[in-house]
Amino acid sequence: MNSELGIGLFDGLIGQPHAARLLTAALARKRPRHAYLFAGPPGSGKRTAALKFGAALCCRKDGCGSCSTCRKAARGTHPDIAVIEPAGSQIMVDQIREVNRTLNMRPHESRARVFIIGDAGALNAAGANAFLKSLEEPPPFVFFLLLASRPREVLPTIVSRCQIIRFSRAPASDVESYLFDKYQVSAPKAEAFARVSGGNLGLAEALWTDAKLAGRRELYLGIAARLARGGSQDAAAMAAAVQSALLEAAAAAEGSGDELPDWPGRSPKQRQQDAHRRTGAAQKWELALALDMLASWYRDMAAVAAGARDSVLNRDYELELDDLALPSRLDNYLAAVGVIENTRKKLVYNIDLGLVLMAMFYELAEVL
Ligand SMILES: [Zn+2]
Repeated sequence: MNSELGIGLFDGLIGQPHAARLLTAALARKRPRHAYLFAGPPGSGKRTAALKFGAALCCRKDGCGSCSTCRKAARGTHPDIAVIEPAGSQIMVDQIREVNRTLNMRPHESRARVFIIGDAGALNAAGANAFLKSLEEPPPFVFFLLLASRPREVLPTIVSRCQIIRFSRAPASDVESYLFDKYQVSAPKAEAFARVSGGNLGLAEALWTDAKLAGRRELYLGIAARLARGGSQDAAAMAAAVQSALLEAAAAAEGSGDELPDWPGRSPKQRQQDAHRRTGAAQKWELALALDMLASWYRDMAAVAAGARDSVLNRDYELELDDLALPSRLDNYLAAVGVIENTRKKLVYNIDLGLVLMAMFYELAEVL
């Protein structure tokens, strides 16, 4: 591998200098390990890094960025780079068996074959055991890149065979400059997205690029503000509005089915089942987001009431927060945050979502 190696390769990896350094060094050593575990919170760039690293392993010029290998890898269409995603909440043993079955096949058109395991924490027990076989003695041209939020989500016998590359939440300032550089997002909004997303770059970016998501954020914050103004009589309508937003998010996820990476041997029936599971996962994700947004509003009101303006998350709503928050009601705002956190716990159980949401809005109106 040449001396220019890695220069610029991981430039797009925002706020992850540590991971970029390790991966660059791994490529420079000429003998990269056969299995890496990229561990870090959602939105920290694990997937971006895996695709770039995978491209560099396949590219004969170590990830030049311009050859057909690199371009196909960037588009997600390189035949030697397979991304294995959970079918719903789990990676099934059949998906891993398919990897094992093709393990010894030579690369189609590059010098390596790369398997990216989209969520190694989602390997079920049977899948993990089947996977160990591949991990033990892969052919010299095969590389595994496993992604997970935390190493402890992954079976220890798998972790021990991987080099761990840690990713962390990107600093808000890095997310802000990224949004400004790429989209010229104005300061209060860039700050708000960076803070609200908690350093989750993908979410911060989506809040700007996905108009529907941005609209749902406005809806949730609007509901929170309405309750703070004393709109308790609308609890049922609010619950219905949130539920229909969840359905909208789920429908969008279902419609995006064909864009998800495929894997060998995935039948039309599986595809249908996956779409169904994906719908459920998207609803859960959106519900978590809705609760986060509602809680962020009352945290912000508490911050303004306490005079801690610097810690406001929704910077783009500062005027409205100023207008609403009263120092004498600080405890009420904190109680509202508590109501939302309690609701989050209740939702672990499979109970009627509409009723839970309505109860939450009544309770919020009461404590506010
Ligand atoms: Zn290349």
